[in-house]
Amino acid sequence: MDFFQEQMQVMTSSSETLYKRACARIPGGVNSPVRAFGSVGGTPRFIARAGGARVWDVDGNEYIDYVGSWGPAIAGHAHPAIVEAVRSAALNGLSFGAPCADEVELAEQLCARLPALEMVRLTSSGTEATMSALRLARGATGRDAIVKFEGCYHGHGDSLLVKAGSGLLTFGNPSSAGVPADFAKHTLVANYNDLASVERLFAGQGQNIAAVIVEPAAGNMNLVRPQAGFLEGLRRLCTEHGSVLIFDEVMTGFRVGPQGMHGLTGIQPDLLTLGKVIGGGMPVGAFGGARGLMEQVAPLGAVYQAGTLSGSPVAVAAGLASLKLLDTPDFYATLSARSGALAEGLSAAAQKHGVTFCADALGGMFGLYFSASVPTSHAAVMAGNSKAFNAFFHHMLTHGHAFAPSAFEAGFVSHAHSADDIAATVAAADGAFAALAQNPPA
Ligand SMILES: *Cc1c(COP(=O)(O)O)cnc(C)c1O
Repeated sequence: MDFFQEQMQVMTSSSETLYKRACARIPGGVNSPVRAFGSVGGTPRFIARAGGARVWDVDGNEYIDYVGSWGPAIAGHAHPAIVEAVRSAALNGLSFGAPCADEVELAEQLCARLPALEMVRLTSSGTEATMSALRLARGATGRDAIVKFEGCYHGHGDSLLVKAGSGLLTFGNPSSAGVPADFAKHTLVANYNDLASVERLFAGQGQNIAAVIVEPAAGNMNLVRPQAGFLEGLRRLCTEHGSVLIFDEVMTGFRVGPQGMHGLTGIQPDLLTLGKVIGGGMPVGAFGGARGLMEQVAPLGAVYQAGTLSGSPVAVAAGLASLKLLDTPDFYATLSARSGALAEGLSAAAQKHGVTFCADALGGMFGLYFSASVPTSHAAVMAGNSKAFNAFFHHMLTHGHAFAPSAFEAGFVSHAHSADDIAATVAAADGAFAALAQNPPA
C-alpha cells in the first residue's frame, strides 16, 4: 500500500490551492494548529459545508465526519433547529453589550442540568473558562500553585501550556515557548491516574496549591478514562488541603452523558468549566460552581473577568437550541450505541487482519489506539504506533471517512450518525487494516 499514491486518486486541487494561499498569510495555513496535517502529512481538506454526520470539501469530496468540529456538533452538523435559532436571533441584532434574556435562560439551564453548578459565568471559549476558573481559585485561596496532569489540555492560557495535550502532543512540544518561567513554576505537573504523584505534590507544597485542574475523562491525549479511585482521591486531597478541585468538562460536558463526567461519577468538583457542546457550534464557554466561590467574581467580588462578546445573543441561542436537542428521547443511548458499534467494529476488523489495535468508547466520544490494550496513562498513549495510525488515517480519509489528524486526539460521533454510517466506516477500515497488515509502516 502506498497511501500517498492512493491519495493522489482523490481530487484535492482546490484544497491545495487554498492551503498555499492560507500558508502565505496565516501561520501554518490554519487558525488552530490541530487542523494542520503536521503529524500525518498531506494537505488539510478545506471544508465547504457540513450537514448531519457529513462534511464536504471544496473539491466536492464527501466524508463521514468523526471530528464533529472537535466536539460541539453533537446533534450533527447544521441541525435545522440550531440553524433556525441562530437565524432568528441574528435578525434581532448580533450583540448588544448589555444583558439579554437568552443568556439568563442558558445560565439557568446549565445550573438545572449540572449538579456542580449553582452559578455560572459565560465566556466565548473554553480557554477563557479555564483561565478564569484558575484566577478565581487563586483569588479565593490566596495561593499561587496549581496542579495539572501531563497530557491534559485546558486551552492555551499561560499557566496551562505546561506538559499539555492535544496539538502540543501532536507537534511534539508539550510546553509552549513564550510562557515566562516565573509563571510555569507555579504549575505543578502530576501523572494522570497516578494518585501517588498528586499526594507527593500535596505533601511537599499543599499549603500553596490553589487548585487541581483535571479532565475527568481525558480527551486530549486520545481518550483515557479515569481509573477507579483517581477522581475520588483528588476530591479528598483538595478537601483536606483547602484547594479548589476544577473539573475541566469543556470536552466531556454533555458529551459523555447528560450531566458530564461529574454526573456519571457522582464526584462534585468545586468549579466546572464548559465549552464545545454548550455553544452548539458557536463560540460559548462557561465556568461555574458553588455560589460562595462564584460570588467572588466581578462585579460582585475582587476576581476580575470580562468579555465584549460573552453571552452573545446569537451564540447563546445556538447553545440553548443544542441543549434542547439533548432531551430527544434516547439521545445518549443512541450516541453510546454508535460509538460502541464503531469501537467494536474497528477492533474486530483489526483483529481479523492481525493488526495491533484496540478502541474504547464513552458516550459520544471514542478512542482509537494502535496498542495491544487500552491505555490508562499518558506514557501508555505515547507508546502507541503513530505510524500505523497515520497510514490508517490517510486510507480512511481517501475513502471518505474523516478522523482527527492525530493519534493523540479523541473522536466524536453525533446523534446524526446512523447505524449504516458506522457500518460503512467499519467496512472501509477492513480495507485499511488489510493494507496495514500487508505493508506495516516502517
Ligand atoms: C477544547 C478544550 C479546551 C479549550 O477550549 P477552546 O474553546 O478551544 O478554547 C479546554 N479544555 C478542554 C478539556 C478541551 O477539550
